[in-house]
Amino acid sequence: MKTIGFIGGMSWESSSEYYRIANEQVREQLGGVHSARSIMWSMDFGEIEKLQHHGDWDALREEMVAAARNLERGGADFLVICTNTMHKLAADVEKAVAIPLLHIADPTAERIREAGFQKIGLLGTAFTMEQDFYTGRLREKFGLDVLVPEDEDRATVHRIIYTELVAGIVSDVSRQAYRAVMKRLVERGAEAIILGCTEIMLLVGAEDSTVPLFDTTEIHALAAVDFALER
Ligand code: GLU
Repeated sequence: MKTIGFIGGMSWESSSEYYRIANEQVREQLGGVHSARSIMWSMDFGEIEKLQHHGDWDALREEMVAAARNLERGGADFLVICTNTMHKLAADVEKAVAIPLLHIADPTAERIREAGFQKIGLLGTAFTMEQDFYTGRLREKFGLDVLVPEDEDRATVHRIIYTELVAGIVSDVSRQAYRAVMKRLVERGAEAIILGCTEIMLLVGAEDSTVPLFDTTEIHALAAVDFALER
């Protein structure tokens, strides 16, 4: 079994889900008391969040590259960045190490293609919804039509992530807000929706949507296990 190198702590609320899902999946596949071989480099999200909102992507790049190198030195066989947003720096991370990076958008898009969906809604941080590093990959590499919420809805989705979900706050009011945003995406033609922020699965599930949801946390963690167990 390969050793997974998780770059986590962004936030730990979702990294703990990665850890749980990966371990449960290895037990499911190998039986007995087997569990995932992994190392996690866990950031202080207070520092990361500040740098993100100040737009200091150079400092963030340094943090991410250092984490990747530390994991590689520590014996990780491949890397998993436990956040959609920080995939903005995926190419820099890849360049800095010799081990491969399992990009979060790839297994997600593959599942969507397998399920036969074309027009897909995307929820995530403003960085993920508004910049090209994520939507561009879905469009160019996988040919998907990506639909993001309108301005006000994007602000709501972003605010709830940064003021609640990364702080472990899960509220019914915010769940209703997400339900309404998803409903509007469906009205605009979304055939399915990507939960493109790794904490959103803490707030909403299949029962909150009339179309299928693609949860990047679960998909990414399961893809990591598949890769770790590949012979
Ligand atoms: N975990 C979130 C994501 O998947 C947001 C936190 C972050 O900015 O890294 O995008």
